[in-house]
Amino acid sequence: VQYNFKQITVVPTAKDFVDIVLSKTQRKTPTVIHRHYQISRIRQFYTRKVKFTQQTFYDKLTAIVTEFPRLEELHPFYADLINALYDRDHYKLALGQINTARHLVARVGQDYSRLLKYGDSLYRCKQLKRAALGRMATIMRGQSSTLAYLEQVRQHLSRLPSINPTGRSLILCGFPNVGKSSFLNKMTRADVEVQPYPFTTRSLYVGHMDHEYLRWQVIDTPGILDHPLEDRNNIEMLAITALAHLRAAVLFFLDLSGQCGYTVPQQVHLFNSIRPLFANKPLVVCANKADVLKIAELDEESRALLDGLQSEGVPVMEMSNLTEEGLIRVKNEACDLLLKQRVEAKLAGKKIGEPRDDKPR
Ligand code: GDP
Repeated sequence: VQYNFKQITVVPTAKDFVDIVLSKTQRKTPTVIHRHYQISRIRQFYTRKVKFTQQTFYDKLTAIVTEFPRLEELHPFYADLINALYDRDHYKLALGQINTARHLVARVGQDYSRLLKYGDSLYRCKQLKRAALGRMATIMRGQSSTLAYLEQVRQHLSRLPSINPTGRSLILCGFPNVGKSSFLNKMTRADVEVQPYPFTTRSLYVGHMDHEYLRWQVIDTPGILDHPLEDRNNIEMLAITALAHLRAAVLFFLDLSGQCGYTVPQQVHLFNSIRPLFANKPLVVCANKADVLKIAELDEESRALLDGLQSEGVPVMEMSNLTEEGLIRVKNEACDLLLKQRVEAKLAGKKIGEPRDDKPR
């Protein structure tokens, strides 16, 4: 299933919302009424305007309530991602308020339609109509911050690169400047969705590549998995929780040269702090920038740390984005580890490293 968040209708500001609806009422309902008409016809004329306005507001609000995704119905990856990006409670509250506004508008429409039955003059009926439309507009204006928030969410959602949460992925992590985005670009050629996000500093970069006739997603997560656990805030933890739902191998990038500003021991420390977040996912340490410095040329402490990882079963693979040495080996190793894990899980009759409720939809 591909999730498409790009089709949600624009959420207007409260002012535009009211203007759009009222001008539609002007255009789509009769405009000529005479004092000498029978009172029943006068009532009908104004009741029509009230009901039409009520219905237009109602339909537009219904569109918002139904087009925005319901967290309960999303794959847990997207539910957690939306929680991380927009705050689950705030998001739900906003949609709940729009839903309430929808019912309030309907109530006003019904109340005033009833009052109009007793309107005894053109003046009185017109007054009731104006009061009804005014109250509906007031309800909408009360929603201005909610509407603005939802429009921000909509714009941001529409820019999210589409990730298929049940597809296969490689997740890239490691300190800044270790070579993750260079790797992403090498692996996926021009096929990367890069979008600046207006609403938050967080972003995901997603590229696509093929391996064993399958399509893979390569995901770079700058700002999320690139600093030690101690400094991680709540939102980042939520984003990591979301990533953990993916069927993925994790590539930890380590800059052998130290050009990124961190020593090898510091980078190994980061790796060890990220590891528990991806229990059951295959891990590969990409020892990058080997064109500058090779593992064999590292100091003794650093070499011992990398040997330690190897002996714990974590492949440590030398590579260079610059010379492209080792790139294909890294890709094959990571992809094959994930494929192998799934075959083994199937043989063992259980599902390892899969999202918990990964039902086909
Ligand atoms: P990211 O922040 O982890 O995504 O790192 P980038 O991919 O942006 O790379 C940071 C810097 O390191 C850039 O100037 C790259 O050109 C450089 N770089 C990346 N990979 C290599 C490599 O294999 N060898 C060398 N010498 N430089 C590299």
